[in-house]
Amino acid sequence: MNSYWHESVTSTEVERDSLNSDLDLDIAIVGAGYSGLWTAYYVKKLKPDARVAVIESNNVGFGASGRNGGWCSGFLPMTLSEIEKQHNRQAAIEMYSQSFATIDEIEKTLNSEKIDCDFHRGGTIHGATNAVQRSRVVEEVEELHSYGFSEDDSRLLTLEESQARINISGLFAASYTPHCATIHPKKLVLGLAKVVERMGVKIYENSRVTEINPRIIKLKNTTVRADVVVRATEGFTSLIKRHRRTLAPLYSYMVATEPLTKSQREEISWHNRETYHDARNMIIYVQITHDGRIAFGGRGAPYHFGSRVKPSYDNHDEIHQRIISSMHEVFPVTKDLEVTHRWGGPLGVPRDWQPSVNYDQRSGLASLGGYVGDGVAATNLAARTLAHLMVGDDHPLTTLPWVNHPSRKWEV
Ligand SMILES: Cc1cc2nc3c(=O)[nH]c(=O)nc-3n(C[C@H](O)[C@H](O)[C@H](O)COP(=O)(O)OP(=O)(O)OC[C@H]3O[C@@H](n4cnc5c(N)ncnc54)[C@H](O)[C@@H]3O)c2cc1C
Repeated sequence: MNSYWHESVTSTEVERDSLNSDLDLDIAIVGAGYSGLWTAYYVKKLKPDARVAVIESNNVGFGASGRNGGWCSGFLPMTLSEIEKQHNRQAAIEMYSQSFATIDEIEKTLNSEKIDCDFHRGGTIHGATNAVQRSRVVEEVEELHSYGFSEDDSRLLTLEESQARINISGLFAASYTPHCATIHPKKLVLGLAKVVERMGVKIYENSRVTEINPRIIKLKNTTVRADVVVRATEGFTSLIKRHRRTLAPLYSYMVATEPLTKSQREEISWHNRETYHDARNMIIYVQITHDGRIAFGGRGAPYHFGSRVKPSYDNHDEIHQRIISSMHEVFPVTKDLEVTHRWGGPLGVPRDWQPSVNYDQRSGLASLGGYVGDGVAATNLAARTLAHLMVGDDHPLTTLPWVNHPSRKWEV
């Protein structure tokens, strides 16, 4: 895998201990991605004396958190009407309001904790290049408005307005929302790890958990006892005993170009560095990086039977080629640019595509995840929610509809 984010981190990576002896903790967190680390962060904020450790099978940010598209977006994998169908209208509105507010919470925390991850709040443009796509873009805006969200949350742009923001080839219609920022994913996850370590959380690397049971987790040669065990393993969950069908690992892939030249940048405009996607069937997601490269991602890779997850799946020639073709179509100027990086990784997909935050006080089992491809911001909200559930302070977040939301297991 040759991830641009991995290569462009300038700080030296810290070597961490692996777990070689039994442990006794208040809270044991499995997985050092955003979910695990934000959980550690908010728990320590609420309970500074809690004995918390994070146990990671590879190293910090090895998973999707170190290699995603860097969209820190308030939008969720489920729509407002899907939430309403399962819960009620007010629950749907509350879920989206909290999710939009999460971008502010992340910005505030990055500033207060001095985490430099190139956070830039440029919003998102959702484009359409034909009439069918246009109706999808319009429907998305209309749905938000029908739940009481305003033009300040999402609005249609005139063609002139959108072309002035990003010069997209063949654009037919577009909408804009301010509820998204770009980040450098790997810098965020490494920065977060440093912050929680400063707060007294121990992170163990190269320590694979094989089994999670109430108040006990097992590694090959060691056992950890904890009042609460948090599973934050997302796209790798199927590798844990009895969890093969909990979340399906679906792969998402990305490429990055060399930096655009000054004249290419002028041609494309894009001064406010909005994220961009369009309403085609294959999901695409794009950002222009801090140093002026186009980072272009796409989904559409086939599911690997039996929920297999392997390092060899992190590259997929055919999908990468399809992503490059889409990039050339959307931004013809990129035909002259070298694609310098290609990578990919697994997302965690629940059977009903609805993420959840789960906590059972009696067994001490907790989990968060199933964000599909929208976890950069959602992990923060999920972790805050879980921290309040664990300390039992009846915080309003603990009544959000994703709390203890059940999703059926996958069939294979
Ligand atoms: C290519 C790609 C692009 C994406 N783009 C975006 C985007 O632009 N915006 C967005 O919102 N979302 C995006 N996502 C999704 C987003 O990155 C994830 O939803 C989010 O990072 C999930 O964080 P996490 O901590 O739950 O999981 P992860 O970051 O995957 O972390 C899970 C961690 O658990 C560890 N682990 C797993 N099993 C064990 C075990 N048995 N023992 C110990 N440790 C274990 C793993 O090694 C891993 O480090 C993208 C994902 C991918 C792959």
